[in-house]
Amino acid sequence: MHINDAVFLEDLCPKFRFRQWRKSIHRFTGKSCIYCGKPSESIDHVLPRSQGGLSTTENCVPACLSCNGDKSDENALYWYRRQKFYDPRRAMAIRAWLEGDLRLAIRLLQWANPSFKKINNYEKDESEYKAA
Ligand SMILES: [Zn+2]
Repeated sequence: MHINDAVFLEDLCPKFRFRQWRKSIHRFTGKSCIYCGKPSESIDHVLPRSQGGLSTTENCVPACLSCNGDKSDENALYWYRRQKFYDPRRAMAIRAWLEGDLRLAIRLLQWANPSFKKINNYEKDESEYKAA
């Protein structure tokens, strides 16, 4: 499943929808940081806005404040490779996320973190996809 609701924030004037969108990003990973697995408290732009990164689902990942702040304006994958908590499965998940393949990204995150809680809504989407 490719995410079809890659939303451009420019189209989302009302703050309410922006908040919903942020929430949905955190929900994908069960509110855990995509880099280190700690609780996600922020949304990180994988390609920083200063380098033309867009506020779309593909470019925005849930991150804890420490990862988000530490990474700053660096390329996420380069930065991530240098971290103590580097996990190749998570790196693959980040890459899949960037390509808009959230289903694969979530699978990889589940693999990296067995205590990862499955998201019910998401599983439902997947079975609908298989039936189609
Ligand atoms: Zn983190």
